Amino acid sequence: MLGSPRDKVIQYSGRINPAKNKQMNTHPNYDIIVIGGGPAGSTVAALAAEQGHRVLLLEREAEPNFKIGESLIPATYWTFKRLGILEKLRASHFPQKYSVQFYSRSGKASSPFYFFQTNPHESAITWQVLRSEFDEMLLDNAKEKGVEVQRGISVREVLFEGDTATGVVTQDTSRTRQTLNATVIVDSTGQRSLIGRQLNLNTTEPNLKMASLFTHYEGGHRDDGIDEGATLILHTEEKDSWFWSIPLPYDRTSIGVVGEIDYLLQNRRDANGRFDAQKIFTEELAKCPPLQQRLEGAKQLFPIHTTKDFSYRASRIAGNNWVLVGDAFGFLDPVYSTGLFLALKSGEMAADAIIEAFHKDDFSEAQLGSFGPAFVDGMEAFRKLVYAFYTKEFSFARFLSQYPEHQGGIVDILSGDVFRKDVTHIFPAMAEMCPFPPEVPLN
Ligand SMILES: Cc1cc2nc3c(=O)[nH]c(=O)nc-3n(C[C@H](O)[C@H](O)[C@H](O)COP(=O)(O)OP(=O)(O)OC[C@H]3O[C@@H](n4cnc5c(N)ncnc54)[C@H](O)[C@@H]3O)c2cc1C
Repeated sequence: MLGSPRDKVIQYSGRINPAKNKQMNTHPNYDIIVIGGGPAGSTVAALAAEQGHRVLLLEREAEPNFKIGESLIPATYWTFKRLGILEKLRASHFPQKYSVQFYSRSGKASSPFYFFQTNPHESAITWQVLRSEFDEMLLDNAKEKGVEVQRGISVREVLFEGDTATGVVTQDTSRTRQTLNATVIVDSTGQRSLIGRQLNLNTTEPNLKMASLFTHYEGGHRDDGIDEGATLILHTEEKDSWFWSIPLPYDRTSIGVVGEIDYLLQNRRDANGRFDAQKIFTEELAKCPPLQQRLEGAKQLFPIHTTKDFSYRASRIAGNNWVLVGDAFGFLDPVYSTGLFLALKSGEMAADAIIEAFHKDDFSEAQLGSFGPAFVDGMEAFRKLVYAFYTKEFSFARFLSQYPEHQGGIVDILSGDVFRKDVTHIFPAMAEMCPFPPEVPLN
């Protein structure tokens, strides 16, 4: 809540650009305020600023720092192209990713799913990124396109008049508060999901109550040639959890384990209700011999991070004068590395809806959320594949031996081609082997 005695509240007195503000009286400061400088926020901000809009991006972290979510999928290429950062990515030290490979509970490796199998274009090759550097690259790009970026500024609250968003209340590192107004407020606060929580929009995925424990190692074993940068997804022996292995720069490998909250955390609490994340991580690793072998002699670089309850979605993607992008709208699951892609893609789609809104002078929910149904359809393809992965009786190897004609469809989804191609033809056959949850339309 506002009004703590230690908090100074001041009214913003910055520059006002009347030419850009069609709703001058109610929205004097900026065309667009973007809350959060992750990939979703940087994308929407850069693309809107490129069209001449006055954009302020507020990021609560004063410095770039560690974040999870390090593996890209090929379809990110098209947003990178539009953002104009392909050259920077090509010149970067981020390992190139050609494929994803799955290990079964018995330790047997599938053939790698090479993205070029269905796509001969250079977009079939993507990258594994250190988020501190990758997010900064996107933020710098936004600045170059004219976005005013302020770091160390946390948004405490989005202001509404009735059901219309009008501005934000910010707090800086000295706890000084300001009120800023804009025509459009974009929530790209990631799992913080500022507007979603404020308006109580979020529902967790009923059957995906997951937790994850993760860290970085230095010096793990890597395969040769084009497999060096592959993402590995490895089941543990009883299929109660799975690990990711993502090669990163500086000879680092990101290693994380995912499993149901009850299995991974809840049932392993001691008498005082505490759990030992390092101990759990080590116990799970012992159940994954192929990964253990790869990490022999490697050094764990920092204590285990823990996160849980990360699968949810908002019931609305926009309202009058506000839009949600990236994780602020929803997040599925880490298994297919779709989070960054969906963050970038929703940033791009939201930017188009916002730019059109300024052309039409229409900032209604219908206009700003016009990209929502198409976006949710794309997300739904990933969602079905996530549910297949967590169905114990389901296996991709068995599915593909029965339906080899669907290999291409699976590679298309793993590549992220859910907005460019119709991938839904694989689901009737898959539904014979695993139950899918009902689709959740937008309100
Ligand atoms: C365990 C796990 C593993 C994952 N692995 C992968 C993977 O391999 N590949 C992949 O693609 N995705 C992965 N993801 C998902 C990925 O991390 C997210 O989808 C992605 O970061 C979303 O980007 P975003 O821009 O929406 O949000 P974020 O990257 O979270 O950015 C949000 C930004 O908003 C800022 N912020 C928050 N609140 C405020 C506030 N009040 N005021 C101002 N700023 C604020 C934050 O500091 C942050 O910088 C993983 C997720 C989890 C949980």
